[in-house]
Amino acid sequence: MRAALIEKFNEPWQVRDIPDPKPGPGQVLIKVHASGLCFTDLHAHHGVFPLKLPFVAGHEPAGVIAELGAGVTDLRVGDRVGVFWNQKGCGRCAACQAGNSGGCPTAQSWMNLGGSNSELMLAWASGCELIPDGVAFEAAAPIFCAGYTTMSGLRNADPKPGERVAVLGVGGLGHLALQFAAALGLETVAITGQANKKGELKELGAAEVIVAGDDPGKALRDAGGADIVLSTTNSAKQIASTFAGLRPRGRFVNMGLPDGAIMIDPMVLMFGQRQLRGSSQDERSDLYEALQLVANGKVKPVLETYPLAKVNEARERLETGKVRYRAVIKHV
Ligand SMILES: [Zn+2]
Ligand SMILES: [Zn+2]
Repeated sequence: MRAALIEKFNEPWQVRDIPDPKPGPGQVLIKVHASGLCFTDLHAHHGVFPLKLPFVAGHEPAGVIAELGAGVTDLRVGDRVGVFWNQKGCGRCAACQAGNSGGCPTAQSWMNLGGSNSELMLAWASGCELIPDGVAFEAAAPIFCAGYTTMSGLRNADPKPGERVAVLGVGGLGHLALQFAAALGLETVAITGQANKKGELKELGAAEVIVAGDDPGKALRDAGGADIVLSTTNSAKQIASTFAGLRPRGRFVNMGLPDGAIMIDPMVLMFGQRQLRGSSQDERSDLYEALQLVANGKVKPVLETYPLAKVNEARERLETGKVRYRAVIKHV
Protein backbone atom coordinates (compact mmCIF):
# COMPACT_ATOMS: atom_id res chain seq x y z
CA MET A 1 0.00 0.00 0.00
CA ARG A 2 0.98 3.60 -0.59
CA ALA A 3 1.50 5.55 2.65
CA ALA A 4 2.90 8.85 3.93
CA LEU A 5 5.57 7.97 6.48
CA ILE A 6 6.98 10.26 9.11
CA GLU A 7 10.57 9.02 9.15
CA LYS A 8 12.14 12.00 10.94
CA PHE A 9 10.43 14.63 13.07
CA ASN A 10 10.12 18.06 11.41
CA GLU A 11 11.04 16.64 7.99
CA PRO A 12 8.79 16.20 4.93
CA TRP A 13 6.71 13.02 5.02
CA GLN A 14 7.87 10.27 2.65
CA VAL A 15 5.19 8.85 0.36
CA ARG A 16 6.13 5.30 -0.60
CA ASP A 17 4.98 1.69 -0.68
CA ILE A 18 4.96 -0.38 2.51
CA PRO A 19 3.57 -3.90 3.12
CA ASP A 20 -0.21 -4.30 3.48
CA PRO A 21 -1.22 -4.95 7.12
CA LYS A 22 -3.31 -7.97 8.21
CA PRO A 23 -6.11 -7.52 10.75
CA GLY A 24 -5.65 -9.42 14.01
CA PRO A 25 -8.47 -10.70 16.24
CA GLY A 26 -10.98 -7.93 16.92
CA GLN A 27 -9.54 -5.72 14.19
CA VAL A 28 -10.61 -4.72 10.69
CA LEU A 29 -8.71 -3.68 7.58
CA ILE A 30 -10.07 -0.50 6.01
CA LYS A 31 -9.56 0.73 2.47
CA VAL A 32 -9.21 4.44 3.24
CA HIS A 33 -11.05 6.76 0.82
CA ALA A 34 -10.46 10.06 2.64
CA SER A 35 -8.47 11.23 5.65
CA GLY A 36 -8.61 14.64 7.30
CA LEU A 37 -5.47 16.45 8.38
CA CYS A 38 -5.72 17.61 11.99
CA PHE A 39 -3.58 20.03 13.95
CA THR A 40 -2.67 17.08 16.18
CA ASP A 41 -0.90 15.57 13.16
CA LEU A 42 1.41 18.58 13.30
CA HIS A 43 2.13 17.81 16.93
CA ALA A 44 3.04 14.27 15.82
CA HIS A 45 5.17 15.77 13.02
CA HIS A 46 7.05 17.90 15.57
CA GLY A 47 7.69 14.97 17.90
CA VAL A 48 5.33 16.03 20.70
CA PHE A 49 4.12 12.43 21.14
CA PRO A 50 6.43 9.60 22.20
CA LEU A 51 6.06 7.70 18.91
CA LYS A 52 8.62 5.34 17.45
CA LEU A 53 9.82 6.35 13.98
CA PRO A 54 8.85 5.69 11.26
CA PHE A 55 5.06 5.90 11.55
CA VAL A 56 1.98 6.84 9.55
CA ALA A 57 -0.16 9.62 11.04
CA GLY A 58 -3.80 10.39 10.35
CA HIS A 59 -6.80 9.95 12.61
CA GLU A 60 -9.75 11.21 10.56
CA PRO A 61 -10.29 8.24 8.26
CA ALA A 62 -13.36 7.41 6.22
CA GLY A 63 -13.38 4.29 4.09
CA VAL A 64 -14.71 0.83 3.41
CA ILE A 65 -14.06 -2.34 5.38
CA ALA A 66 -11.97 -4.65 3.20
CA GLU A 67 -11.32 -7.51 5.63
CA LEU A 68 -12.46 -8.66 9.07
CA GLY A 69 -10.15 -10.06 11.73
CA ALA A 70 -11.17 -13.13 13.73
CA GLY A 71 -14.13 -12.67 16.03
CA VAL A 72 -15.51 -9.47 14.46
CA THR A 73 -19.26 -10.01 14.28
CA ASP A 74 -20.94 -6.60 14.13
CA LEU A 75 -19.18 -5.14 11.10
CA ARG A 76 -19.25 -6.48 7.54
CA VAL A 77 -16.93 -6.31 4.56
CA GLY A 78 -18.13 -3.37 2.45
CA ASP A 79 -19.37 -1.27 5.40
CA ARG A 80 -18.63 2.45 5.09
CA VAL A 81 -16.94 3.44 8.35
CA GLY A 82 -14.79 6.02 10.03
CA VAL A 83 -12.54 5.52 13.05
CA PHE A 84 -12.22 7.73 16.10
CA TRP A 85 -9.19 8.32 18.35
CA ASN A 86 -9.62 6.01 21.36
CA GLN A 87 -10.62 2.84 19.59
CA LYS A 88 -10.42 0.35 22.43
CA GLY A 89 -9.90 0.53 26.18
CA CYS A 90 -8.23 -2.19 28.25
CA GLY A 91 -11.68 -3.24 29.47
CA ARG A 92 -10.44 -3.72 33.04
CA CYS A 93 -9.51 -0.35 34.59
CA ALA A 94 -11.94 1.81 36.58
CA ALA A 95 -12.66 4.07 33.59
CA CYS A 96 -13.41 1.12 31.28
CA GLN A 97 -15.55 -0.60 33.92
CA ALA A 98 -17.51 2.62 34.33
CA GLY A 99 -18.21 2.64 30.59
CA ASN A 100 -15.79 5.45 29.77
CA SER A 101 -13.15 3.67 27.69
CA GLY A 102 -12.03 7.08 26.35
CA GLY A 103 -10.67 7.75 29.84
CA CYS A 104 -8.65 4.50 29.86
CA PRO A 105 -4.94 5.29 30.41
CA THR A 106 -3.93 2.54 27.97
CA ALA A 107 -6.64 3.05 25.32
CA GLN A 108 -5.50 2.07 21.82
CA SER A 109 -5.49 4.64 19.04
CA TRP A 110 -3.95 5.18 15.60
CA MET A 111 -0.65 5.42 17.50
CA ASN A 112 -0.85 1.68 18.17
CA LEU A 113 -2.23 0.45 14.85
CA GLY A 114 -1.07 3.09 12.35
CA GLY A 115 -2.88 6.09 10.90
CA SER A 116 -4.96 6.85 7.84
CA ASN A 117 -2.50 8.68 5.60
CA SER A 118 -2.26 5.42 3.70
CA GLU A 119 -4.39 3.41 1.29
CA LEU A 120 -5.10 0.76 3.93
CA MET A 121 -5.25 0.95 7.70
CA LEU A 122 -5.99 -1.28 10.64
CA ALA A 123 -8.53 -0.37 13.29
CA TRP A 124 -10.17 -2.03 16.25
CA ALA A 125 -13.73 -2.96 15.34
CA SER A 126 -14.81 -1.18 18.55
CA GLY A 127 -13.36 2.07 17.15
CA CYS A 128 -15.44 2.06 13.95
CA GLU A 129 -18.65 4.01 13.41
CA LEU A 130 -20.89 3.55 10.37
CA ILE A 131 -21.06 6.56 8.03
CA PRO A 132 -24.67 7.50 7.25
CA ASP A 133 -25.87 6.84 3.68
CA GLY A 134 -25.45 9.83 1.40
CA VAL A 135 -22.52 11.37 3.29
CA ALA A 136 -19.43 11.53 1.06
CA PHE A 137 -16.23 10.06 2.48
CA GLU A 138 -14.42 13.41 2.38
CA ALA A 139 -17.28 15.12 4.27
CA ALA A 140 -17.40 12.32 6.86
CA ALA A 141 -13.65 12.22 7.51
CA PRO A 142 -13.29 15.46 9.54
CA ILE A 143 -16.21 14.44 11.74
CA PHE A 144 -14.14 11.62 13.25
CA CYS A 145 -11.87 14.05 15.10
CA ALA A 146 -12.80 17.71 14.52
CA GLY A 147 -16.54 17.05 14.53
CA TYR A 148 -16.62 14.52 17.36
CA THR A 149 -14.36 16.69 19.54
CA THR A 150 -16.37 19.87 19.07
CA MET A 151 -19.77 18.21 19.45
CA SER A 152 -18.55 16.70 22.75
CA GLY A 153 -17.27 20.14 23.77
CA LEU A 154 -20.64 21.69 23.03
CA ARG A 155 -22.56 18.96 24.86
CA ASN A 156 -20.15 19.14 27.80
CA ALA A 157 -20.92 22.87 28.10
CA ASP A 158 -24.56 21.89 28.73
CA PRO A 159 -26.07 24.51 26.39
CA LYS A 160 -29.53 25.84 27.22
CA PRO A 161 -32.03 27.31 24.75
CA GLY A 162 -31.35 30.99 24.13
CA GLU A 163 -27.75 30.87 25.25
CA ARG A 164 -24.96 32.56 23.37
CA VAL A 165 -21.99 30.49 22.20
CA ALA A 166 -18.69 32.02 21.17
CA VAL A 167 -16.22 29.98 19.15
CA LEU A 168 -12.63 31.02 19.69
CA GLY A 169 -10.33 30.00 16.84
CA VAL A 170 -12.28 29.15 13.71
CA GLY A 171 -10.26 26.61 11.76
CA GLY A 172 -10.84 22.89 11.18
CA LEU A 173 -12.49 22.34 14.58
CA GLY A 174 -13.97 25.79 15.06
CA HIS A 175 -15.84 25.96 11.75
CA LEU A 176 -17.68 22.79 12.76
CA ALA A 177 -18.26 23.98 16.34
CA LEU A 178 -19.86 27.12 14.92
CA GLN A 179 -22.18 25.13 12.66
CA PHE A 180 -23.14 22.65 15.41
CA ALA A 181 -24.07 25.50 17.77
CA ALA A 182 -26.10 27.20 15.03
CA ALA A 183 -27.77 23.88 14.10
CA LEU A 184 -28.88 23.50 17.73
CA GLY A 185 -30.54 26.92 17.51
CA LEU A 186 -28.04 28.71 19.74
CA GLU A 187 -26.90 32.26 19.12
CA THR A 188 -23.35 32.16 17.79
CA VAL A 189 -20.35 34.46 17.86
CA ALA A 190 -17.12 33.71 16.01
CA ILE A 191 -13.86 35.11 17.39
CA THR A 192 -11.07 35.14 14.83
CA GLY A 193 -7.73 36.83 14.37
CA GLN A 194 -8.18 36.96 10.58
CA ALA A 195 -10.35 39.88 9.44
CA ASN A 196 -10.66 38.40 5.93
CA LYS A 197 -12.64 35.44 7.32
CA LYS A 198 -15.55 37.66 8.41
CA GLY A 199 -17.87 37.07 5.45
CA GLU A 200 -17.20 33.33 5.38
CA LEU A 201 -17.91 32.96 9.09
CA LYS A 202 -21.29 34.65 8.71
CA GLU A 203 -22.08 32.18 5.94
CA LEU A 204 -21.14 29.35 8.31
CA GLY A 205 -23.76 30.53 10.79
CA ALA A 206 -22.08 33.17 12.95
CA ALA A 207 -24.62 35.81 13.97
CA GLU A 208 -21.69 38.04 14.89
CA VAL A 209 -17.98 37.97 14.08
CA ILE A 210 -15.40 39.51 16.42
CA VAL A 211 -12.02 40.22 14.90
CA ALA A 212 -9.83 39.85 17.97
CA GLY A 213 -6.78 41.95 18.60
CA ASP A 214 -4.62 41.59 21.70
CA ASP A 215 -7.55 41.27 24.09
CA PRO A 216 -10.32 39.04 22.67
CA GLY A 217 -11.91 38.88 26.15
CA LYS A 218 -12.52 42.61 26.19
CA ALA A 219 -13.80 42.50 22.60
CA LEU A 220 -16.22 39.72 23.59
CA ARG A 221 -17.39 41.59 26.71
CA ASP A 222 -17.92 44.74 24.62
CA ALA A 223 -20.02 42.64 22.23
CA GLY A 224 -22.24 41.40 25.09
CA GLY A 225 -20.24 38.38 26.33
CA ALA A 226 -21.07 34.70 25.95
CA ASP A 227 -22.57 31.93 28.09
CA ILE A 228 -20.30 29.37 26.48
CA VAL A 229 -16.89 29.67 24.82
CA LEU A 230 -15.80 26.74 22.68
CA SER A 231 -12.06 27.21 22.35
CA THR A 232 -9.94 25.55 19.70
CA THR A 233 -7.08 28.03 19.74
CA ASN A 234 -3.53 26.99 20.59
CA SER A 235 -2.79 30.30 22.29
CA ALA A 236 -2.80 30.12 26.10
CA LYS A 237 -2.80 33.93 26.16
CA GLN A 238 -5.96 34.14 24.03
CA ILE A 239 -7.65 31.54 26.23
CA ALA A 240 -6.89 33.50 29.40
CA SER A 241 -8.12 36.72 27.84
CA THR A 242 -11.29 35.26 26.35
CA PHE A 243 -12.19 33.52 29.61
CA ALA A 244 -12.89 37.00 30.97
CA GLY A 245 -15.48 37.49 28.22
CA LEU A 246 -17.77 34.86 29.78
CA ARG A 247 -21.04 35.99 31.28
CA PRO A 248 -21.77 34.97 34.90
CA ARG A 249 -22.26 31.16 35.15
CA GLY A 250 -20.47 30.91 31.84
CA ARG A 251 -18.57 27.79 30.76
CA PHE A 252 -15.30 27.85 28.88
CA VAL A 253 -14.48 24.57 27.12
CA ASN A 254 -10.88 24.10 26.03
CA MET A 255 -10.39 21.64 23.17
CA GLY A 256 -6.99 22.72 21.84
CA LEU A 257 -3.47 21.92 22.98
CA PRO A 258 -2.28 25.37 24.09
CA ASP A 259 1.30 26.57 23.84
CA GLY A 260 1.66 26.95 27.61
CA ALA A 261 -0.12 27.00 30.95
CA ILE A 262 -3.56 28.63 31.04
CA MET A 263 -3.36 31.54 33.48
CA ILE A 264 -6.90 32.42 34.51
CA ASP A 265 -7.71 35.42 36.70
CA PRO A 266 -9.05 33.74 39.90
CA MET A 267 -11.37 36.67 40.60
CA VAL A 268 -13.07 36.20 37.22
CA LEU A 269 -13.24 32.44 37.81
CA MET A 270 -14.75 32.66 41.28
CA PHE A 271 -17.10 35.65 41.15
CA GLY A 272 -19.78 34.81 38.65
CA GLN A 273 -19.37 31.03 39.18
CA ARG A 274 -17.55 30.64 35.89
CA GLN A 275 -16.11 27.30 34.84
CA LEU A 276 -13.09 26.19 32.86
CA ARG A 277 -13.18 22.64 31.59
CA GLY A 278 -11.23 20.49 29.21
CA SER A 279 -12.96 18.33 26.65
CA SER A 280 -11.95 15.83 24.00
CA GLN A 281 -13.93 13.09 22.27
CA ASP A 282 -16.40 11.98 24.90
CA GLU A 283 -19.75 10.17 24.57
CA ARG A 284 -20.08 8.03 21.46
CA SER A 285 -23.52 9.60 20.97
CA ASP A 286 -21.78 12.93 20.29
CA LEU A 287 -20.13 11.41 17.21
CA TYR A 288 -23.43 9.90 16.08
CA GLU A 289 -25.18 13.25 16.50
CA ALA A 290 -22.43 15.08 14.59
CA LEU A 291 -22.65 12.62 11.68
CA GLN A 292 -26.45 12.94 11.59
CA LEU A 293 -26.19 16.74 11.33
CA VAL A 294 -23.95 16.29 8.28
CA ALA A 295 -26.32 13.67 6.83
CA ASN A 296 -29.35 15.94 7.10
CA GLY A 297 -27.49 18.88 5.59
CA LYS A 298 -27.51 21.12 8.68
CA VAL A 299 -23.69 21.04 8.89
CA LYS A 300 -21.33 21.14 5.91
CA PRO A 301 -17.60 20.64 6.43
CA VAL A 302 -15.69 23.10 4.25
CA LEU A 303 -12.81 21.25 2.63
CA GLU A 304 -9.67 21.45 0.56
CA THR A 305 -8.81 18.06 -0.93
CA TYR A 306 -5.37 16.77 -1.88
CA PRO A 307 -4.04 13.52 -3.31
CA LEU A 308 -1.71 11.58 -1.01
CA ALA A 309 1.25 12.65 -3.17
CA LYS A 310 0.60 16.26 -2.09
CA VAL A 311 0.29 15.55 1.63
CA ASN A 312 3.27 17.77 2.45
CA GLU A 313 1.70 20.72 0.64
CA ALA A 314 -1.46 20.25 2.70
CA ARG A 315 0.58 19.94 5.91
CA GLU A 316 2.46 23.16 5.17
CA ARG A 317 -0.77 25.04 4.46
CA LEU A 318 -2.15 23.78 7.78
CA GLU A 319 0.99 24.84 9.61
CA THR A 320 0.82 28.37 8.17
CA GLY A 321 -2.90 28.82 8.88
CA LYS A 322 -3.94 28.89 5.23
CA VAL A 323 -6.35 25.94 5.12
CA ARG A 324 -10.08 26.73 4.62
CA TYR A 325 -11.20 24.95 6.77
CA ARG A 326 -10.13 21.30 6.73
CA ALA A 327 -7.56 19.68 4.45
CA VAL A 328 -8.56 16.17 3.45
CA ILE A 329 -6.38 13.62 1.69
CA LYS A 330 -8.44 11.80 -0.95
CA HIS A 331 -7.05 8.35 -1.62
CA VAL A 332 -9.80 7.25 -4.01
ZN1 LIG B 1 -7.51 15.45 15.55
ZN1 LIG C 1 -9.11 0.66 30.65
